[in-house]
Amino acid sequence: MIDICVNEIWFITGSQHLYGTKILRKVAAHTEEIVKSLNANSEILVSIKDKGVVTTPEEITAICQISNNEKNCIGLIFWMHTFSPAKMWINGLKVLDKPFLHLHTQYNAEIPWSKIDMDFMNLNQSAHGDREFGFICSRLKINRKVVVGHWKDSKVIEKINIWSRVASAHHDAKSGKVARIGDNMREVAVTEGDKVEAQIKFGYSVNGYGVGDLIEYIKMVSDAEMKNLIDEYESTYLISDQLKFDGVKRGSLEDAARIEIGLGNFMREGSFTSFTDTFENLHGLTQLPGIAAQRLMNQGYGFAGEGDWKTAALVRTMKVMAAGLKGGNSFMEDYTYHFLHGSDRVLGSHMLEICPSIAGGDVKCEIHPLGIGGKEDPVRLVFNAAAGEALNASIVDMGGRMRMVVNNVTTIKPKEGLPYLPTARALWNVKPNLKEGAQAWILAGGAHHTCFSQNLSNEYLDDYCDMVDIEIVTIDEKTDINSLKRYLKLS
Ligand code: MN
Repeated sequence: MIDICVNEIWFITGSQHLYGTKILRKVAAHTEEIVKSLNANSEILVSIKDKGVVTTPEEITAICQISNNEKNCIGLIFWMHTFSPAKMWINGLKVLDKPFLHLHTQYNAEIPWSKIDMDFMNLNQSAHGDREFGFICSRLKINRKVVVGHWKDSKVIEKINIWSRVASAHHDAKSGKVARIGDNMREVAVTEGDKVEAQIKFGYSVNGYGVGDLIEYIKMVSDAEMKNLIDEYESTYLISDQLKFDGVKRGSLEDAARIEIGLGNFMREGSFTSFTDTFENLHGLTQLPGIAAQRLMNQGYGFAGEGDWKTAALVRTMKVMAAGLKGGNSFMEDYTYHFLHGSDRVLGSHMLEICPSIAGGDVKCEIHPLGIGGKEDPVRLVFNAAAGEALNASIVDMGGRMRMVVNNVTTIKPKEGLPYLPTARALWNVKPNLKEGAQAWILAGGAHHTCFSQNLSNEYLDDYCDMVDIEIVTIDEKTDINSLKRYLKLS
């Protein structure tokens, strides 16, 4: 359901008329070559559109206004191949409402020492042209990503790729719809927040729906649809004996399949991108959606439990950033600790709803009691998360402003089999270590709910926070508690 290939990034080169048509033709040809080369990169899924060379304030303002109204345009790349006096850019940048990346590159990689003359200097002068542009962006206090280096440099391309994915996620969030089935878990603080402020910052709307609205969709599921989905379960997962064809809990698997189909139809027909539920509001549902939430997340929907709409929307946003990348993104909760000198670690999980996109190895389909909520036992997928570098990200409402808190972790394979743990889980080492990492997280007010990511680096989240203009607190191997405390006090 996530397709970022339709998205466009408009590549616009700034210049002026001073140089004459011959030079401007070269500038246009160079732009075309750079755009072609970026599009040829298989990592970049969005399409980069060459929108030519702009040389007057009128052209600049016009292209900015047109890009605002173009629904597939998710952002722009600006490059000043030559000198483009930046007062020409003021009106355009003031009306532009899409994010942009300032590519500080130069057509020529090397200085041709034996041949360099004034013509070369006049053509290859982004070194000062881009500084003029940078000044006006800073003067206008516009957040943007600045990428420096030759356009064939793989590190430059990677930065453009990351930004293009973040712009895609931002574009998705701007029209995102979060369905809140049931309210916030009673008395919980961190999952609350200002939904109006969130819509102003991130763009997505959050609206409540009764469980009855969902029940109507579940009632409409036919036996044939339910049986087809069970066939899919059986061909994809290791099914526990109780849930097999002649198992004592087969009926619960049928209920779970009906819930998944009904919930999926509810999401599609409402054009929702994320959803939440809560075990406290399940009137008419036989079991808390477990496998349904897990599999819908795996299809690209955002999800978080206990009415946590901020985390649900964040899971969706991070899934869009990661479109097509190896590894997964999942709703997660810091669950329990392993305190052992020198190797303190966290076992992350949730009651049920961890996305199988992060699984390493077999995924089992099992049924166990939930212990809370007073409903029938829910069916869920059980697995270990794959080992490797990962991070946890959370968004909290600090009252009047949103803050993202990120912690880098290393996921490891549990040494033991955990035969009695009835949930999917991830075991990780915190950076810089559990003592300081958790201390920093708690001081920054980070939530217990997060989006756990195996394929997004900090740069994605830094870019995103710049794009939506919110604060980010990163806890990694360089974190020092005293400077973090000073920062939090100042911010
Ligand atoms: Mn929870």
